[in-house]
Amino acid sequence: MARTPLLMGNWKMYKTVAEARAFAEALGQQSQKLDSRIEYAICAPYTCLHVLRVMLPAQVRLGAQNVFPEKEGAYTGEIAPGMLAEFGTKYVLAGHSERRMLFGESDQFINQKIKAIVANGMTPVLCVGENSSQKEDGVTKEVVTGQVLQGLDGLTADEVGRAVVAYEPVWAIGSGKTATPDDAEEVARAIRAAVAETWSPEAAEGLRILYGGSVKPDNVASFVREPDLDGALVGGASLDPTSFAAMAEAIKGVLE
Ligand code: PEP
Repeated sequence: MARTPLLMGNWKMYKTVAEARAFAEALGQQSQKLDSRIEYAICAPYTCLHVLRVMLPAQVRLGAQNVFPEKEGAYTGEIAPGMLAEFGTKYVLAGHSERRMLFGESDQFINQKIKAIVANGMTPVLCVGENSSQKEDGVTKEVVTGQVLQGLDGLTADEVGRAVVAYEPVWAIGSGKTATPDDAEEVARAIRAAVAETWSPEAAEGLRILYGGSVKPDNVASFVREPDLDGALVGGASLDPTSFAAMAEAIKGVLE
């Protein structure tokens, strides 16, 4: 596989600094399970970034869950991309379905964030996915490719080739239900085809596509085994260090 597999945790609004420290310590004790052919990241609450930067095993990169697309200003409660970059943050999520639904984020606003993330030298992780009624209506691929094209609009082919898209069916997030690996692969293939047509075949080849939605140690390999899926974005199962390490080992098994 030419693309480096990526196992990314999304902690959402979980973990105090003390809990993040305990996670980092416990994962550090299992760091021999983190194969160097795989990349790892934790997208943590802002308050945990410092302790994670200091304490996570070196193979695990820092990620943020959100950003505001301005350099600085009177935006009470927001965090600027430069603040995250200065901190050593490598990945930033944009367009997570919880933010689209709970905070009304539009594709246009998400696109502004993506551009700001890239402009500050970080890697955007654009989250896309259909809801259950869109799935029932059979419009999954149209919805998802539309979100990808709008989210990445204005990026160069090189920038798209270095970006990450997380395909997360909304009905699968935190529900215990998952897409089948076949269905997820079909959507990932449609994303790659849309990217190849809009930017270039090289951009489509470089873009990493993760599956997300109730991923656990016992199902992660079935997704990563698919040719167009390059890893997983994991919520609940990323909160426990033993479960995180078990997912790392399962992905390693796919590489062997
Ligand atoms: C997520 O938060 O992006 C996610 C996929 O959550 P979970 O793994 O808990 O379904």
